[in-house]
Amino acid sequence: MEPTPAAAPDSQPWYKQLHWQIILGLLLGLAYGVLAAQNGWGAFTTAWIKPFGTIFITALKLIAVPLVLASLITGVASLSDLRKLSRIGGKTIGIYLMTTAIAVTIGVVLADVIQPGGGFSPELRDDLIEAFGDDVDARMTSIEEAGIRDRGPLQFLVDAVSENAFASFSDNRSMLQVVVIAILFGIGLVQIPRERAAPVLAFFEGLNDVVIKLVDIVMLLAPIGVFALLADTIVSTAGDDPGRIMELLLALVKYMLVVLLGLAIHTFVTYPTVLKVLSPMKLKTFFSGIAPAQLVAFSTSSSGATLPVTMERCEEELGVSEEVSSFVLPLGATINMDGTALYQAVATLFIAQAFALDLGLGAQLTIVLTAVLASIGTAAVPGAGIIMLVIILEAVGVPAAGIALILGVDRILDMCRTVTNVTGDAMVATVVAATEDQLFPPDRTGRGDTLRVVGETAGAVPSRREAGMI
Ligand code: ASP
Repeated sequence: MEPTPAAAPDSQPWYKQLHWQIILGLLLGLAYGVLAAQNGWGAFTTAWIKPFGTIFITALKLIAVPLVLASLITGVASLSDLRKLSRIGGKTIGIYLMTTAIAVTIGVVLADVIQPGGGFSPELRDDLIEAFGDDVDARMTSIEEAGIRDRGPLQFLVDAVSENAFASFSDNRSMLQVVVIAILFGIGLVQIPRERAAPVLAFFEGLNDVVIKLVDIVMLLAPIGVFALLADTIVSTAGDDPGRIMELLLALVKYMLVVLLGLAIHTFVTYPTVLKVLSPMKLKTFFSGIAPAQLVAFSTSSSGATLPVTMERCEEELGVSEEVSSFVLPLGATINMDGTALYQAVATLFIAQAFALDLGLGAQLTIVLTAVLASIGTAAVPGAGIIMLVIILEAVGVPAAGIALILGVDRILDMCRTVTNVTGDAMVATVVAATEDQLFPPDRTGRGDTLRVVGETAGAVPSRREAGMI
């Protein structure tokens, strides 16, 4: 079949553009979810709608490990100078830490100024602690089981080294280990004679191209997957009593607004500022390029599951080189969680205020430090942030049972903070690429655009690597 000439996505009618399709899925899922919760269609939704959401997330997770492995190995192996790798690594971690510290500071300042927990009714507080007691116990048990309290600040470095590569490949939570294995493998590959390395490299390059096609194929399911995920989230959050969630929303409206305001400031002020200062990227290009990843992050609440989409969008739409994106993004999905850190800071102060505890400057600085560390240790899965929140509460002497106050609305905030987490990763990838001279004109004719890809002859369009750009 003759390959059809690729039109730039913007020239397609809006309803054929992926992000509009996902937005439509999201809005329809929202509307259906509300209807279903009101009419008691919970069982029907779980049986007939939820599976499409689960399939979508599972397929994304399926792709994540092979994608990171193949793209990072080929990326590292294409480096002419290995010193570049440590420079990129240092820069990446430095910017990640800096933006996370800014995020926590925004959270602390907003919570101090607005005082979302000031005047929180003690009766409501006790009711919530009673109502969510079992949920709190379940979180405490996971903390005990994972031994989170005994972890030193450098434990994440220890955890990054795997004792069994195949065990790491078979567990999506071991992404950091996969990153380290791929880097070591890539370094090994450039150190052996060319003719020995060539077939191995060719294999990983081929694997990389296949996996990228798979991302495109899975993304065809995105609008339906997002619809199903949203519908199910609303139905399961509302449970049998949709009135209760409305009551909770009203009681916690101030707290939620502070978290959302903080996330909005960080996403739409901090990130654009860093982008403007450190890269030539146009904000419109950045936000419209990354929009599908943000929408998937919102509906899956998982930066880990969103990773393949984030990588694809950064490479194809923002023009970040594969070498940079395959290193910066998996690392970011694991350790860079600005949205989570900001939320943890606000939640800590909110709970302290609701218990009428006055946290002084020392405690606030402890919050900044522990929230930065806790967000590094937070897994890239739904609901992980509230588990690590317990560690921060304990560090500043606020009763951990206080998480009961915010559990009821946590999923909604989780969706929003995951958007910030993913946007932050993409922003840092763009900045690192720009400062390394690895930001290319977007590869819109290449591997990326989902809506055109199926049906195209494999290999008809040169990849960025083939075109000699990497
Ligand atoms: N769901 C978040 C993420 O995957 C983590 C969290 O804050 O719970 O980025």
